[in-house]
Amino acid sequence: MGDRDLRGKPVADAILAEVKTAVADMADSGWVPKLVSITVGDVEAVDVYVRNQRRVAERVGIAFEERNFPGDVTQEEMEVAISTMNVDPRVTGIILQRPVPPQISIKALQSAVHPYKDVEGMNPTSIGNIVYNELDLAPCTAAASVELLKSTNLPLQGLEVVVIGHSEIVGKPIAFLLMAEGATVTVCHHMTRALSVHSRRADAVFVAVGKPKLVTADMIKPGAAVIDIGINALKDEKTGEETICGDVDYDGVSEVAGWVTPVPGGVGPVTVAILMRNTMIALQRQKNAYSSQFRSVATAE
Ligand code: NAD
Repeated sequence: MGDRDLRGKPVADAILAEVKTAVADMADSGWVPKLVSITVGDVEAVDVYVRNQRRVAERVGIAFEERNFPGDVTQEEMEVAISTMNVDPRVTGIILQRPVPPQISIKALQSAVHPYKDVEGMNPTSIGNIVYNELDLAPCTAAASVELLKSTNLPLQGLEVVVIGHSEIVGKPIAFLLMAEGATVTVCHHMTRALSVHSRRADAVFVAVGKPKLVTADMIKPGAAVIDIGINALKDEKTGEETICGDVDYDGVSEVAGWVTPVPGGVGPVTVAILMRNTMIALQRQKNAYSSQFRSVATAE
């Protein structure tokens, strides 16, 4: 067993190839996607992510615009700005970059984004659809993680899955997506007793906690799939150099697991690809809504 590196790039490339085709098809009928990325205050922490999103968007033919708001902007001002984008037909998708300053409620902003332009899948309407087994537009990281599991070809029906971490943005939507696919899901969190008792019986383990090396080889069933969503910055005491690692002890776990995603290079690239896929799904929904309105006007005349 082991040495089955589950890299994100092939999965991301396959998704992006489909997105590129969708962009061309939509352009033929006059629908052009454009993402607006919103940052508030200091952008340094998210700069690398935003640049990456722009690079991937432009690669598949999606326009990308960055709008930065001052660090002391009010909640009301942000909601007005989002409402303006909601009614601007040139803006077809809105991304809210985290973190935001303390006076801003990210949840309220996510709710303010019109569901048709919610490419992050974080509006309560989008999340609610997952509960009803409508899975085509889901939160990007959760959808990316599930996509990686699917790429192993393990049958999801009846699969024993343990999700470690129960945040709204990652853990909970993963659990709902997998339940909809027929998996048997156990969700663990900081109050779970004896984490390894759960993780050791799982065919697939998803980890989204934010603690380096939380998951070690002794917690994994031989042959299981391990999807590491954590992103942790580690500073070398001597050199001061920063490296990125996940929540899984990669070297140890890859000795026993059937598949394990590396960090970086696992979930990250697939997340950005899903963002692009969501952008095209959102655009299709806008097109459908416009066409049905047009039809009802035409019928009324
Ligand atoms: P969060 O802080 O909102 O939630 C952390 C979760 O971990 C909670 O459910 C908490 O109960 C659980 N937890 C904490 N300590 C635990 C322990 N000892 N044992 C078991 N569970 C424990 O975090 P989040 O926003 O879900 O992010 C989690 C990680 O995923 C972070 O490292 C974050 O950077 C990363 N992340 C990655 C992506 C990506 O695209 N790859 C996207 C979002 C977040």
